[in-house]
Amino acid sequence: MNLPSSLAALNGLSDQLRARLASVDEGVLIHDQSGAIVAVSPGAVRLLGAEADQLLGRRTPLEVCRAWDTTGTQWREDQCPATACMTTGESQRQIVLRIDRPDGRLIWLSFDALPLDGEGGVRYGVANLFEDVTERHLAEATRTRLLDEAREALRSRDAFLAVAAHELKTPLTALQLHLHSVMRGLEGGTQDPKLLANKLKATSRQADRINHLVDVLLDVARISSGRLELNRTSMDLAELVKDVVERNADELDRSGCKLSTSFDDTVMGEWDIIRLEQVITNLLSNAAKYGHGRPVEVTVARDGQRARLAVRDAGIGISREDQQRVFGRFERAVSDTHYGGLGLGLWIVREIVEAHGGTIQVSSQPGTGSEFIVELPLRR
Ligand code: ADP
Repeated sequence: MNLPSSLAALNGLSDQLRARLASVDEGVLIHDQSGAIVAVSPGAVRLLGAEADQLLGRRTPLEVCRAWDTTGTQWREDQCPATACMTTGESQRQIVLRIDRPDGRLIWLSFDALPLDGEGGVRYGVANLFEDVTERHLAEATRTRLLDEAREALRSRDAFLAVAAHELKTPLTALQLHLHSVMRGLEGGTQDPKLLANKLKATSRQADRINHLVDVLLDVARISSGRLELNRTSMDLAELVKDVVERNADELDRSGCKLSTSFDDTVMGEWDIIRLEQVITNLLSNAAKYGHGRPVEVTVARDGQRARLAVRDAGIGISREDQQRVFGRFERAVSDTHYGGLGLGLWIVREIVEAHGGTIQVSSQPGTGSEFIVELPLRR
C-alpha cells in the first residue's frame, strides 16, 4: 500500500483506518477531495493489473484500464463511479464493468463508490471499492443466454406448430371435399366412371401431400435428435435425377415451368438413394413453386472426385441477406400469404448433403432466379 504525503489531506482518515487499508486484499482506491487517487490497496493492484505508481495521482482507474458495461458500451473516464460519487455526493452501488487491464487480461469488477464525509458535511474524499465478479457474471450471462435460447426455441416451436397445423389442414380439407363429392356421385348413381377416376386421383394427390408433410415432421424430429442415418449403396446420381424428374413431371407441368436437363452419362458414388431422392425432390419442387412459370434447368456432372447437381430456375430469386438464412430451420424468405410452406425443405436438404460430406450453395438475384448447387464426394 502506497501512502504518499498527499494522503495527509485526507484528514478524515484515521491512522488506524490507513493501517487497515494496507492489509486489505479487496480492491480499494481512496480519492482525495480533488478526486486524485491517493491510496491503492494491494488488492486493487492485483485486480486492475496495474502498478500502484500507475494509479496514484490519477482521477480514475479508467485512465489506466478501459471499461465496458454489461450492454457492451465503453465507459468514458468521467463516468467512473468514484467521479460520479464525488460530484453528486451519492453512493454508487454494485456497478458491474468489464475491465480491459493493461496486461491484456479481461476481468469483471463490481464497483461501490462511497463518499468519505466528516462532521459538518465536510467531504474528505471518496472510497472506491471493487471485487472480482468474473465467475458470477459469466455464470449469469450463460444462464441468461440459455434462458433466451429456451424461450426462442419455445417461440419457434409454437410458430412451427401453428404453421404445421395450417399446412396439414389445407390438404385435409381438400381431401374431405373430394371424398364428399365422390360419395354424392356414388349415392346418386349418376357418377361417370371417368369423372370418378379423376376425383379419386385428386383425392390421392392430397393424401400424398399429407403423407409428405408427416414425413417432413418425422425428419425434423430425427435430424434434431441426431438420428439421421445414411444407408449408403453404390448408385448412379444421373439415373436417380432422371427418375425423380420423371416422377415430378406433373408438378412441374402444373407450375408451367419448362424443364431442361443435362446429364453426364453416369455419376457413380456411394450415397443414400432415398435421402438423395429427397434432396432432388425438394430442390425441384422449390424451383416449381418459386420459379414463376419460367424454365428450370437441372444438370448432373462429375467434377474430379465430386458429383455436382445444379437446379436453376428463373423465378423470384432470394436477396443476398436471406441467402444463408433460408438453409436454417423454419426459415423462410417469402410471405406466408403468397406461398405456403414450413421452411424446412432446405434445412433438411442441407442436413442430408452435409451428412454425406457434401456442400450446398445458392447463387441468386431477386427477380432473376436462383441456382442451388449440391456437391457430393464420390467416395466416403
Ligand atoms: P418452404 O418452401 O417450405 O418455405 P424451404 O426450406 O424449402 O421451405 O425454403 C426456405 C425458403 O427459401 C423459402 O421460404 C423461400 O423463401 C426460399 N426459397 C427456397 N427455394 C427457392 C427458390 N428456388 N427460389 C426462391 N426462393 C426460394
